[in-house]
Amino acid sequence: MNHVVVVGAGLAGVRSVEALRARGFAGTITLIGEERHRPYDRPPLSKAVLLGDTDSTVVDSDLGALEVSFRPGAAAKGLRPGVVETTEGELPYDGLVIATGARPVRLLGDGPQHVLRTIDDALGLRALLVPGVKVAVVGAGWIGAEVTTAARRAGCEVTVVEAADVPLAAALGPVGAWTVPWYEQAGVDLRLGTAVASVDHGGLTLAGGTAVEADVVVTGVGVRPAVEWLAGSGIGLDDGVVTDEHLRTSLPGVVAVGDCAAWWSRRYGRHLRVEHWDNALNAPEVAVASLMGEKAVYDPVPYFWSEQFGHMVQYAGRHDGGRMVMRGDPGTDPKWGACWVDDRDRLVAVLSVDRPRDLVQGRRLIEGGRPLDVERLADPAVALRDCAA
Ligand SMILES: Cc1cc2nc3c(=O)[nH]c(=O)nc-3n(C[C@H](O)[C@H](O)[C@H](O)COP(=O)(O)OP(=O)(O)OC[C@H]3O[C@@H](n4cnc5c(N)ncnc54)[C@H](O)[C@@H]3O)c2cc1C
Repeated sequence: MNHVVVVGAGLAGVRSVEALRARGFAGTITLIGEERHRPYDRPPLSKAVLLGDTDSTVVDSDLGALEVSFRPGAAAKGLRPGVVETTEGELPYDGLVIATGARPVRLLGDGPQHVLRTIDDALGLRALLVPGVKVAVVGAGWIGAEVTTAARRAGCEVTVVEAADVPLAAALGPVGAWTVPWYEQAGVDLRLGTAVASVDHGGLTLAGGTAVEADVVVTGVGVRPAVEWLAGSGIGLDDGVVTDEHLRTSLPGVVAVGDCAAWWSRRYGRHLRVEHWDNALNAPEVAVASLMGEKAVYDPVPYFWSEQFGHMVQYAGRHDGGRMVMRGDPGTDPKWGACWVDDRDRLVAVLSVDRPRDLVQGRRLIEGGRPLDVERLADPAVALRDCAA
C-alpha cells in the first residue's frame, strides 16, 4: 500500500491519518475535506462556541508533522475501484478511509432555518442569539436542548417544538420526561407532541395550522450519513456505509469510520451506526489496522454525553428491551440516573445526570457482562461497582 486517501476531514478523518502514521505507514496520505477548515471538534459548537466562550475548536493535530497532503475545500463526488473522483480531479488510491460524517435533516418550507453542524453554522447562529430575539427550536433532542440552553443564556425567548411526548425520546424513551422541568425552570415554552408542518418566513407552521412566531428557527431533528457521493459505486450502503466488525466495507482496500459508518457489532449482533464523538475518536485505530492487514475488531459499548441546562448528561450502552431501574429521584435530587438490565440482571445501559462516576463504572460493568444485584442498583448511595450479585 503506497497511497491512502482519507475522505472527510472531521475528527474520524484526522484520527485515521494519525493512526496510519502511528502504525508506521510511510507512504503518501491525502486528506480531503469539503469544508475550508482544518479538522475541528463538533461537540463544543453547541456548547462553548454558542455560549461565546471560544471561537475555535480546531483539533490539536500537527498535519505538517504527519506529512499529510491536506486538501480543504475539496469534495469527493464519486468512487470507482482505485479512484476517488473529487471536485479537484481524480485521486488514485490503494487504501481508502471513508469518514464523511453526517448532514443535518432540514424541514419543509421556504422560511430561513438554521442547522448546527459546522463551525460556520455555530458562529452564524451565535451572532443572532441576542436578548429579546424570539427563537423557535425544532426538536428537543441533544442538539435542540443545547441550543435552547445557549439561547436562554443569551436572553432570547425560546419556544421548543417536539413531535414526541418527551424530550430526548429517541435516545432515552420515557426517562426523557425527567428533563421537562429543566425547560420549565429555564423559562422555555416547551410544546411536546407537536409536529411542525413547515418553516415559513416569520416562524413555524404547526401540523394543525397554528403559527409559532420566531425571528430565528433552528432545526435539530437529526442527521443522515453523508454518503450520497457513493451512490452507484457498488459499495454496500444501508443507513451509512456498511462494514464488518473490522470496519472493512464491501470493496477491497476500503474502510469506513465515524458517523457515516454502520459497523457490525459482535456485542449487539447487529449493525450499529452512532453519532458519537467517542466513536469518531476510537474507530479509526481499528479501521487503519484492518487496512494494513491486521485483524482488529471494533466492538465498543457506545458512549455519548451532552451538557444542557447546567447538567452533564451521559449515556452508555443500548437499552432496547432492557428493564429500567432508577437511581435516585429526579423530583428531589438534582443528581440522578437510570440503569437498564437484561433478563439476567446484567447491565446493558446507564444514564447519569451529574453522576460521572456512575457512567465510568457503569460502562465497565456493561463491558464485563456480570449479573448485578438490582436492589443495590436502585440505591444511589451504593457505587455501581459495588452492585455485583
Ligand atoms: C453541534 C454538535 C454537538 C455535538 N455534541 C456531541 C456531544 O456532546 N457528545 C458526543 O458524543 N457527540 C457529539 N456530537 C457528535 C460528534 O461531533 C460526531 O459524532 C463527530 O463529529 C463525528 O465525526 P466524523 O469525523 O465521523 O464526522 P464529521 O465530524 O461530520 O466530519 C465529516 C467531515 O467530512 C466532510 N465531508 C462530507 N462529505 C464529504 C465529501 N463528499 N467529500 C469531502 N468531505 C466530505 C464534512 O464536511 C465533514 O467536515 C455533536 C455533533 C454536533 C454537530
